[in-house]
This record gives sequence, C-alpha cells and structure tokens, in this order.
Amino acid sequence: MLFDTHVHLIDPRFDEDRAAVVARARAAGLSGVVEIADSPADWDRALALAAEHPGFVRCALGLHPYHADEWRPGLAAELAARAKSPGVVAAGEVGLDYAKCEVPRPRQKEAFLGMLAAASAAGLPVVIHCRDAYADLMPILRERFPARPAVGRFHGVVHCFSGTAEEAVECAALGFALGADGPVTYPKNDALRAALKGAGLAALVLETDSPWLPPQAKRGKRCEPADVADVAARLAEVFGLPEKELARVTFGNARELYRL
Ligand SMILES: [Zn+2]
Ligand SMILES: [Zn+2]
Repeated sequence: MLFDTHVHLIDPRFDEDRAAVVARARAAGLSGVVEIADSPADWDRALALAAEHPGFVRCALGLHPYHADEWRPGLAAELAARAKSPGVVAAGEVGLDYAKCEVPRPRQKEAFLGMLAAASAAGLPVVIHCRDAYADLMPILRERFPARPAVGRFHGVVHCFSGTAEEAVECAALGFALGADGPVTYPKNDALRAALKGAGLAALVLETDSPWLPPQAKRGKRCEPADVADVAARLAEVFGLPEKELARVTFGNARELYRL
C-alpha cells in the first residue's frame, strides 16, 4: 500500500532507465506515483508518462517557483483544458522558494496566487512547494483557504514539509496534507520528525521527490520511487506503528488528497 505522492520521473536523470525505475517501484510494492510537472513545457510529457502507465502513474501540472517568470493569466485556461485529461489529479507544484530561486519574490507571489486561483477554477487540489518562505506562505493559506475543502479533507499538500511544529499543526488544521520524504530519515532532523508527529498521522502523505532527496541510506545518489519504503520505515518508528499500518493510513490520506 505504499504510494509516492511526488516524483519527477521526466527528469533527464531517468532518461536511461525510466521504464526500469517504474518496474522497480511496482516490484517494491508501490500502488502508484504522482508525476509532478514543474513548468508548462513539461505538462504534455507528464500526461504522456501517465498514459504509458495507466492507473499507476498519475500527474500534477504546475509552475514551480523556479519557473515563476513564465506565469501568464492564459495558463489558467490551459490548466482547465487539461484538468479532465486521464491521469491528472492536481495542480502543482506551485509556491514560494526563498532559498535558491533567482526569480524575485514579488514575481513568485504573483505566479503562486495566479496558479492557486487557476487550480481552484479547474477544481484541482494543489501541490505546494515552500522553501524558507513559511512566513509568507502561512498568511496566503489562511486567506485563500478559510473554509473546509468542498471534497474530502484536503485542499492540497505542502510537499516536502520543512516548517516548524506550529506551522505543521496549522497547515493540517487549514486542510493541507504534509508531504514527508527523504529528510525525515536524516539523523539530524529530530525537529522535523517531531513536527510531523505533532501534526498527526491523519495529515501525512509519503513522497520521494525523485530524483532529489534520497533517504539516508542513499545520500549523494539518485533517489527513485522505490525508496519511499525507507521514508515509511522511519516514520513507522516515529509513530510507533508497524510499517504496514503506517503505509495503509498514509495511502488512505493520499487517495483522499488526490481524489483517487
Ligand atoms: Zn518542490
Ligand atoms: Zn518536486
């Protein structure tokens, strides 16, 4: 019942062995992955990957903060036009990145707000990326998502959650799932593990962000969806649960998040 809610398999680092990577994910017991397209130039490739692996690869269509300068209002109509395509389960990733991103912050915010509105108009949950920007993200979430979700428990997910314990609890209370990935396996990340535990298992989904964020056992190497098992194992320890139970609950959360 493992499910990887966030992968980038169209990344060139998978060009040599993409089919084998998907096969290994199936062999590792995953029941599916969600391919995250970071820019409109990648939307059709993500749709094609989902079409190649129906029922196993789904996709989200987004505009990563790195690509925020590509934002234009016409993207809303383009997203809406593709929202009903087979395999499309979310809009994203979209968000704010104040760590390494070269796009100026006002431009990132404009793109983020535009894509949030576009996701809502298209009826899709949203995959949010936030790095070193929680002070700006939280007021936006409070203002844009004042009510409970119309469908299920989640408006979307704050993927690769890296905020504080207070922010974790508030994101969950606002109707957002929290994505847990490789960093929960890093020895130094006690604060992150405590924050996720404080938010509660009912808010957590598993991800890898492949090819990024390898778990501790693969530091420095390419990450792939099968590695989500390491994230599940570490979180099972944190919650004091059998791995199967951790996988079952987070899979249920992922199905509710992506309305599967
Ligand atoms: Zn991200
Ligand atoms: Zn990502």
